[in-house]
Amino acid sequence: MKDTFRHKGLRKQLMDELSDKGISDISVLNAMAKIPRHLFMDNAFINFAYQDKAFPIGAGQTISQPYTVAFQTQLLSVNPYEKVLEIGTGSGYQAAVLFFMDADVHTIERQKELFQKTKDFLPKLGCHCNFIFGDGYKGLSNFAPFDKIIVTCGAPFVPQELKKQLRVGGKMVVPVGDGDVQVMTLVERVSDENYNITEHGEFLFVPMLSDRERGV
Ligand code: SAH
Repeated sequence: MKDTFRHKGLRKQLMDELSDKGISDISVLNAMAKIPRHLFMDNAFINFAYQDKAFPIGAGQTISQPYTVAFQTQLLSVNPYEKVLEIGTGSGYQAAVLFFMDADVHTIERQKELFQKTKDFLPKLGCHCNFIFGDGYKGLSNFAPFDKIIVTCGAPFVPQELKKQLRVGGKMVVPVGDGDVQVMTLVERVSDENYNITEHGEFLFVPMLSDRERGV
């Protein structure tokens, strides 16, 4: 569990690269600069931790590319103390970014092995989140409404239950598409009944799996 000067230097370079690629939200870059990404990855990939690439994390899943994490988080525009729901805990990297932006983080994972591993690991970095083992399609109704919701797996549609769990004025960022690519979609709840939907480019995600309630 070491975070050396070399790791910090590589991380600084990665932040410069992300800013060159268009990430301008300082709170996102500051949070990512604090997180030892190399500790989230299998030892075999440790030397690649500060490249702007996705990598395998076990159970057939990946830790998202840093640019994708930064882009999605920037689009979510997170403010301190907001209640944020993440679907797809995975390695916990995205949850850590939200935590270091001072959000109140709730995160759901459907794979038991990853859920357990991340629930044990993140507190060792000082990241305290509400870790839930369950199905992201259902959200987390007993903690709703959320200021922000971020889905970190490719959803075939915008899950209806998640839309309902967004507070009026809240935002959800969800990659939508069940083919090879997903369209980064921003859903803003403008009133009880109305949502503003905008699209923000194509990305690659592992699929959002299990019970598929009909979405809109
Ligand atoms: N946010 C993660 C990304 C992991 S990849 C990180 O920073 O590392 C996406 C994750 O979504 C996988 O771990 C996968 O198991 C999970 N997932 C897929 N479908 C899900 C669902 N229906 N509910 C909750 N998690 C899901």
